[in-house]
Amino acid sequence: MADNGTSKDDATTSVSMETIVNLSKRRGFVFQSSEIYGGLASCWDYGPLGAELKRNVKEAWWRDTVTTRPDVAGLDCSILMHPRVWEASGHLDNFTDPMVDCKLCKGRFRADQLEHASCPKKPSKRPGECEGELTEPRNFNLMFKTHMGPVEDSAAAVYLRPETAQGIFVNFVNVVNSARMKPPFGIAQQGKSFRNEITPGNFLFRTREFEQMELEFFVPPGSDDAWYEYWQARRMAWYTDYGINPKRLRLRCHADDELAHYAKGCADVEYEFPIGWQELEGIANRTDFDLKAHMEASGKDLSFFDPQSKERFVPYVIEPSAGADRSTLAFLVDAYHEDPPEEGRPADDRRVVLKFHPSLAPVKLAVFPLMRKEGHPEKAMKIVEELRGHFAVQYDQAGSIGRRYRRQDEIGTPLGVTVDHQTMKDDTVTLRDRDTMEQQRVPIAALAGIVREKVAPPVSTRPLAPEGI
Ligand code: ATP
Repeated sequence: MADNGTSKDDATTSVSMETIVNLSKRRGFVFQSSEIYGGLASCWDYGPLGAELKRNVKEAWWRDTVTTRPDVAGLDCSILMHPRVWEASGHLDNFTDPMVDCKLCKGRFRADQLEHASCPKKPSKRPGECEGELTEPRNFNLMFKTHMGPVEDSAAAVYLRPETAQGIFVNFVNVVNSARMKPPFGIAQQGKSFRNEITPGNFLFRTREFEQMELEFFVPPGSDDAWYEYWQARRMAWYTDYGINPKRLRLRCHADDELAHYAKGCADVEYEFPIGWQELEGIANRTDFDLKAHMEASGKDLSFFDPQSKERFVPYVIEPSAGADRSTLAFLVDAYHEDPPEEGRPADDRRVVLKFHPSLAPVKLAVFPLMRKEGHPEKAMKIVEELRGHFAVQYDQAGSIGRRYRRQDEIGTPLGVTVDHQTMKDDTVTLRDRDTMEQQRVPIAALAGIVREKVAPPVSTRPLAPEGI
């Protein structure tokens, strides 16, 4: 991959979730939803910078998973699907979490996550360790139910999809026929999913409305183990290629008693969030469970006939399933750095810098006139106008040049251009690098090329298939 100068030092800054939440609000990455009405729990709105960052994260995934591969096609399905989909997939019966209630404070908790929960009345205690007695666990279905059309009866019940995967399974034959795909091949989708989580929280980490980035990769039975290993390595590499510190990333294989009944194997990509090691993405070998379940329920043949080998089979599925919001949070947390104050400066005068991979950064380039006179602003605006069509550019003339650099560092802008006295004489500017803070003098005419190279996404040279396949 290209070295964009983003390699992070070993001693990364540990940051609290509170710092990330505050920075997000102050600089316009993420706001509480419906804030002027007191906010809606666990719902968040991406602000001007957050919307760009999340789009860039999704684009990076799509590029790596779909557009740069000959063997993956994209799909964009509707959120509402026929209710029988959820019957066949098992979601109606099994998509549940065990829930307990506290008889004293009426708080509701996930029975399997009590060690991470705290009593709402006595936050230093876990639920059940305070005076409150907990009920026996009972299963709570996480799907949001609504009604289609004007009549609110059970015949009109539909569900907001709790995952994007099912839209892919039910379109398997459509994609095989229209895109002329043949296993091994994948179908990818990004989009909103909804789960009525019992205990959402930790900012973007667990919400009730979130976006997924899922790939269902269909393979001939027998090659599934090799592809399962392949996608684990490939997905881990995606995060580090885009700048995630490998020391904060690990793969955790599920123990047999953790596996869903249909899964042959499952591994979580975990990231060390400020709340500890948590799942970022799940990679599962789902066998032929999903296609067979839909074959049985719909009565339609979802097997694949290979005209070359004259064999008919139901493909196995390897599923890397990532969260766009969780990934965005991980990229935000991982990018956060604080440089200690320079000598002689007050202790709280730290440089906060988001060291995003330049291709993920919401703003690519900031242009500053050194002074608000002598033609500097006009010259700087001219540069902005020239580059605006190519990159996300910001213009800033407010405050000292040092403060302006700091403002851009805090939102992760990789490059800063300053127009000064020299510019007026020879059409050169200073170009400052966010990470090294080094400045070099470059001709204005060379800027577009330099920026383009700097913000280019990593070019993957990784293999497209497991060895021997
Ligand atoms: P968890 O154990 O955290 O509930 P899960 O194993 O149920 O997650 P999957 O069904 O495998 O999650 O979903 C795939 C990915 O979708 C997760 O790895 C995560 O990135 C994202 N995701 C799932 N639930 C949520 C949520 N409530 N909020 C934000 N992202 C989510």
